[in-house]
Amino acid sequence: MKHNFGAGPCILPQEVFQEAAQAVLDFNNTGLSILEISHRSKEFEEVVKETESLVRELLNVPENYSILFLQGGASQQFAMVPMNLLPEGGKAAYLDTGVWATKAAKEAKNFGQIEIVASSKDKNYTYIPKDFEVPSDAAYFHFTSNNTIYGTEVFEKPQTNVPTVVDMSSDIFSREINVSDYDLIYAGAQKNMGPAGVTLVIIKNDILGKTGRTIPTIFNYESHINAGSMYNTPPVYSIYVSMLNLRWLKAKGGVKAIEQENIIKARTLYAEIDRNPFFKGTAEVEDRSRMNVTFVMDTPELEAEFLALAKERGLVGIKGHRSVGGFRASIYNALSITSINALVDAMREFEESHK
Ligand SMILES: *Cc1c(COP(=O)(O)O)cnc(C)c1O
Repeated sequence: MKHNFGAGPCILPQEVFQEAAQAVLDFNNTGLSILEISHRSKEFEEVVKETESLVRELLNVPENYSILFLQGGASQQFAMVPMNLLPEGGKAAYLDTGVWATKAAKEAKNFGQIEIVASSKDKNYTYIPKDFEVPSDAAYFHFTSNNTIYGTEVFEKPQTNVPTVVDMSSDIFSREINVSDYDLIYAGAQKNMGPAGVTLVIIKNDILGKTGRTIPTIFNYESHINAGSMYNTPPVYSIYVSMLNLRWLKAKGGVKAIEQENIIKARTLYAEIDRNPFFKGTAEVEDRSRMNVTFVMDTPELEAEFLALAKERGLVGIKGHRSVGGFRASIYNALSITSINALVDAMREFEESHK
């Protein structure tokens, strides 16, 4: 058995893989593959409808928000957000907490003036800046709720009195959120929602149409809202598999229940990192992510040795991102406590054999 700690695309539940595989051969007894049905067919329309209603139910999305399934990943949202929300000559505020936040701000610079309200770059993004002010003349404030690469997470939405946009790619559906705290939420699916290829956007309808700029139709949220995510051919299979995964989440008791599991999983792993003299966490304790656990060892030699042991024990995907080094265990919703225990056991075994 493999324990997949990959950062994304990542583990999904085994039963989702089974059902997804079956639908490639015969989708809902139609005698057709999910890969060959029309996106305009009644069967697929129902898939989109159910996926949307699962998102609405699981995250408690209010009626005045639209739910979109787009392509282009979270990276496309880095550009679509300012294109749709930043007026000509306007200003937007960004919090810099890592690679993805930096990329989002860089794209936005193509559309207006960008103010970086705070940055944790001074300490290689190992913490979340908390003392900062968002200018009240900003069209919106943007932040990344979970920094997938550095293993830090924003648990409390920063206070602002301007519309707030959040990149929740790697912690959406992992914990309860209050959607109405935000004006726009986006997430590439491949870290907790489904396979790569679809991007979830949850958007408060009344923030649109205020930029005074001509937006290409395909990049205009309004085109997708008006067409119910069917402006052009949507990523049919990615939406379908996301639906299966959200059904799985609902059957498990929803976001509230998975959050409790995620807390226990993260606590178990961080406890071992803090106890075991061979390992050291890289993120500031109060900002530690529940989804991506980053840690290092004293020397590259020890790290290579532990990586080899991990491989022997079926632990895959734990090598850290090159900008942090060491290890990163991504412990998304579908990763069970059994896999956490397997990693903890390997860490203990390593300690024992090096006494
Ligand atoms: C992975 C990731 C991205 C990039 O997502 P793509 O879908 O590959 O564009 C952006 N933001 C965060 C927080 C991520 O984890």
